[in-house]
Amino acid sequence: MSVAISILEIVQDTTVDGPGLRTSIYCAGCPNRCPGCHNPQSWDIKNGHYTDIEDIMRPIEEAIFSDVTFSGGDPMFQPEGFAELARTIKKRTNKNIWCYTGFLFEEIMENDKQRELLKYIDILVDGRFVEALKDEKLLFRGSSNQRIIDVQRSLQQGETVLWKEER
Ligand code: SF4
Repeated sequence: MSVAISILEIVQDTTVDGPGLRTSIYCAGCPNRCPGCHNPQSWDIKNGHYTDIEDIMRPIEEAIFSDVTFSGGDPMFQPEGFAELARTIKKRTNKNIWCYTGFLFEEIMENDKQRELLKYIDILVDGRFVEALKDEKLLFRGSSNQRIIDVQRSLQQGETVLWKEER
């Protein structure tokens, strides 16, 4: 059975949500309510449109040279739908997946549904946005408490491994 995801917007060829060109899937629904959030209209899941996985796959597959980013809102607020989407992306393409979330990696590891989604994520940018720690010079994140985590290495090594740009 296919699961739908509440989506605000899908943007192709972004360059700010991870390295290279990316198709960014901005979902609705976020329980974190960080003061200073860049996108408060994303907090209410009802502000999005429920969209089938196949309809989300179309722009992802069209953008041949782009990888994929899940953002929001908070994708970890809809873990079952995003897990199905991520599984489909990994089955049908060789694209890498970045995921932004207000939850911490350690919290996600304690939650069965969120941990299932994590299995298909390459890089996780974790933690809430903290206005007092905002720094516009930071790459791919808003505040300095947020971490860019290499998920697959972290799962293999059993500890949090930060991402190092491979170039
Ligand atoms: S986690 Fe992100 S989308 Fe959610 S309230 Fe915080 S900054 Fe906004």
